[in-house]
Amino acid sequence: MSAYSLRCRVCEEVTVAEPLDACRRCDGPTDMLYDWARIERVVTRAAVAAGPASLWRYHDLLPTGAQVDFGAGWTPLVRSDLLSDALGIELHLKLEGENPTQSYKDRVATVAASAALDNGVTTLCCSSTGNLGDAVAAAAAATGLEAIVLAPVGGESAAVAARHPGARVFAVNGTYDDCRRLELELGLLFPWGFVSGNLHPYASEGAKTISFEIAEQLDWELPDAVICPAASGTLFSKLAQGFAEVTRAGLAAEPVPRMFAGQALGSSPIADAFADDRRISRVEASTLFASLAVGDPSHGDLALGAARATGGAIIAVAEDEIVKHTALLSESTGVTPDFSGGAALGALVEAIRRGHISPGSRVVLVVTGARPAVAGGTSRVTTVEPDAHAVLTALGLHS
Ligand SMILES: [Zn+2]
Repeated sequence: MSAYSLRCRVCEEVTVAEPLDACRRCDGPTDMLYDWARIERVVTRAAVAAGPASLWRYHDLLPTGAQVDFGAGWTPLVRSDLLSDALGIELHLKLEGENPTQSYKDRVATVAASAALDNGVTTLCCSSTGNLGDAVAAAAAATGLEAIVLAPVGGESAAVAARHPGARVFAVNGTYDDCRRLELELGLLFPWGFVSGNLHPYASEGAKTISFEIAEQLDWELPDAVICPAASGTLFSKLAQGFAEVTRAGLAAEPVPRMFAGQALGSSPIADAFADDRRISRVEASTLFASLAVGDPSHGDLALGAARATGGAIIAVAEDEIVKHTALLSESTGVTPDFSGGAALGALVEAIRRGHISPGSRVVLVVTGARPAVAGGTSRVTTVEPDAHAVLTALGLHS
């Protein structure tokens, strides 16, 4: 077999790698399938260590031939002495705000742009609460691809447009969930690369490189627990997959870390399902924190499965607790996280209080992004209704 292919999560049909996120036989979601016999042969600690200081040091575990590099990955892992003492654990912070556009989404965009080049796709389109739009615009700028960003009307869409004059940014009169539906609708009309659509099986693989780096930066001794914020659940499930893959590749020994996540209480369909031990039901997202406002989580069931399988938990954190813990994270570490970092720290404090994480445990908290003051100025943002025809008209493709 080739180094990677696509496999249907439902009927397990395997097909050659192409931009495709739904099985042709049963319409189930597709995931990347790797040639593990090859990986076990070629992936060694020495080979990884000899690789570049970017996520491409793990290229044998990623699903592209092209290797777009605009500086994403190989972010610092730092121990926080003050928070370790305060919480009675050994706490390390994975600083994803050190990526080029200051969030882990640069990893996702890097792999998406690489898959676009592999497949002759010239336009990258994404729906975004802010961070992914920044990352996709940057990856497109670095590769000469066109970028089309769909973001809810408001500060984040204006900020993306201001920071990336080369990208076409649409401020959608609706929520993030509306943007995502619009992206799927446009996917039926255009042969573009859609980060949450036909390129999703590739793009989402970028996130698992955080786990590879955590393992390598701890000299291949996996931590006891890992905690991150959760919105769609994609990051959380990809982190869990990443730890499973480093053990399968023989780079690190089991057990894999127990996986924890924090969700904003006003938008917590995964935490609610975890607490009630049931499947996900979508909610109307109601939170002040744009990057956490996902009511219909695409990877919610996978995230639930990862939390349950590893003995972790997904915990809802109240809005005021998110604000408080974002400030605490900043005051005690010098890091300037976005509010997602506060959601993760709030959930960590609660997990310790409940006895899920015992004293002295080695824990890694993924600080998914840093967000300085929003850029001002005028921008080329275009406001549209969440409707594909409105986008076509604005692009001049529709009479
Ligand atoms: Zn299928």
